[in-house]
Amino acid sequence: MYNYYQKKYKSEFTKNTIFSLVILIFFIVITLATIHTLKGLVVILTLIILIFTLVFYYMVYEPLSKWKKVLQTPFPDAWRKILEKNVTFYNTLDEDEKDYFEKRIQYFLETKKITGVNTDIDDKIKILIAASAIMPVFAFPDFVYDNINEILVYPNSFDEEYNTGDREKILGMVGNGSMNRMMILSKPDILNAFSGRRTVHNVALHEFVHLIDKKDGSIDGIPEILIDKAFVLPWLRELKIAESKIKKRKSDIDPYALTNNSEFLAVASEYFFMSPKKFQKNHPELYKYFTKIYKRKLKTVVK
Ligand SMILES: [Zn+2]
Repeated sequence: MYNYYQKKYKSEFTKNTIFSLVILIFFIVITLATIHTLKGLVVILTLIILIFTLVFYYMVYEPLSKWKKVLQTPFPDAWRKILEKNVTFYNTLDEDEKDYFEKRIQYFLETKKITGVNTDIDDKIKILIAASAIMPVFAFPDFVYDNINEILVYPNSFDEEYNTGDREKILGMVGNGSMNRMMILSKPDILNAFSGRRTVHNVALHEFVHLIDKKDGSIDGIPEILIDKAFVLPWLRELKIAESKIKKRKSDIDPYALTNNSEFLAVASEYFFMSPKKFQKNHPELYKYFTKIYKRKLKTVVK
């Protein structure tokens, strides 16, 4: 998989460079065909080359150079130790997959800003957030979170006005309006998900599942970016069956999943990724659907 990114980087760079050159030649031909004086030609050509250089730099060179940087930078040992110590998902991967997971984490951290608000953040928090982002899209090498720029880490849970305190209810959210393209996460709740206790909760993963769901334009519990159209109706049927079990208190899925379909997807995904064995045992049908949606059968390791 590591080779996949090396090939991807090279082929995308070549493809985009050729595309940009074709556009440049097209503009030169158009310009030559429409101007008459040599003086005007020099001025216009200079302008075109200038604009082309700027567009090429920001549209092609800069994003791809981030990939290049990631591919050339070894994954820090300290980061690997954080993964080994905290992230069960990582420990279940084989060596190639681990390399690939590490590159995805590096790329995520290279392209997204993580900021502590009234709280200190360290490499551990950053790695745990990045791991939570990559786990659900691990089987989708081309998936990028292009609907978010920054993750704000709050010292605690918060309310609708962003006041924090351990009695406030919100643990994480994807921002709207002035907070668009941002995510807010409560620091203790990020840490709790990886505290070593068996848990079915991971607030960061929950919010990233909303972003995956949002990629097709609507947060509706149907991540069309991951699943086939033909698979949508059976998925919704299964979702309804699972919801009715929660209503009858015959399910151990957090009742918050009943809020709407998108919350069901996010809540059940947390459970699937954090306690796959228990999820498979208690929800065998749903487990089958999740292995299809996320293209992944999850192994569990006993520490
Ligand atoms: Zn939610």
